[in-house]
Amino acid sequence: MKSEYAIEIRGLKKTYKKTKSSDEKTALKGIDLQIETGSIFGLLGPNGAGKSTLINILAGLVQKTAGTASIWGFDIDENPRNAKANIGIVPQEIYFDPFFNAREVLELQAGFFGIPKERRRTAEILEMVELTDKSKTYSRSLSGGMKRRLLVGKAMVHNPPILVLDEPTAGVDVELRKKIWQQVKEMNARGVTIVLTTHYLEEAEELCDKIAIINHGEVVTCDTTANLLKHLDEKQLIVQGAERLTSVPNTLKDMQAHIDKNGALVIKFSPSKINMGEILKKLAEASLEIIDLTTTQSDLEDIFLQLTKT
Ligand code: ADP
Ligand code: MG
Repeated sequence: MKSEYAIEIRGLKKTYKKTKSSDEKTALKGIDLQIETGSIFGLLGPNGAGKSTLINILAGLVQKTAGTASIWGFDIDENPRNAKANIGIVPQEIYFDPFFNAREVLELQAGFFGIPKERRRTAEILEMVELTDKSKTYSRSLSGGMKRRLLVGKAMVHNPPILVLDEPTAGVDVELRKKIWQQVKEMNARGVTIVLTTHYLEEAEELCDKIAIINHGEVVTCDTTANLLKHLDEKQLIVQGAERLTSVPNTLKDMQAHIDKNGALVIKFSPSKINMGEILKKLAEASLEIIDLTTTQSDLEDIFLQLTKT
């Protein structure tokens, strides 16, 4: 490995040309990303943000307009073979040749990568994606969840150190989602660097060490999951008085405050602009008899809405 990063992307741009059915569309406006080896990295963004375009450029399926990308230290233009050998991609769309069974799908893919018969791990991979008992089932007859697992297996036949999953859990039920999460964690524990795209915040929060939020083809923010949550600049302080309140006390009139339906005082504030001490002082000045104080912090969902609203 030549680089400390599993994937490095600089100034990546993509403009889809005008066609009969669609106008010219700039899907990526200059993306910079560095994905650390060994991490689970989340590319989070709403539909149409450009996530699949980015993944498909890495997969060699979409031609970039400008910028550079390297995979495991190999530039995708200068060294496409090595770049491809080090990445496995599970596409968003499920597609298999319907006339091959699960085992054959994996064998064909191994052949495609030029892996000699004696070095193939077909049985091991079937086991890993829990399809051993379906090895002779035509791919068209597999359930949606099984097809997805087969796609993961297919992406892993050449044992790449990086696995990219494009919306691995879009449209799957809760149970299968949990199972996919488990598999992602297991693969990462075995040393595989994972990149996944998702529009589910919950998923990014659950799985990822680091998250880049992208919207309209730009990285809006990129940070560790912990920092994203910590730096979130909105908190709520809920003050329960001895009696129901009917109006916001005068000392707090200059703050964003209201009385909720339970008669509690709700104060919204940005911790970076005002500290809790000042708010408590204002409360003391109002001579309220306080029986309870609670604070709530926004979750990733709020950050996401905050950052992607345009
Ligand atoms: P995401 O995966 O985040 O939902 P995509 O990368 O699929 O986003 O799409 C980003 C933008 O590029 C969207 O506006 C989409 O309509 C457009 N787009 C994607 N693929 C094509 C294509 N093959 N031709 C033209 N426009 C495309
Ligand atoms: Mg997509």
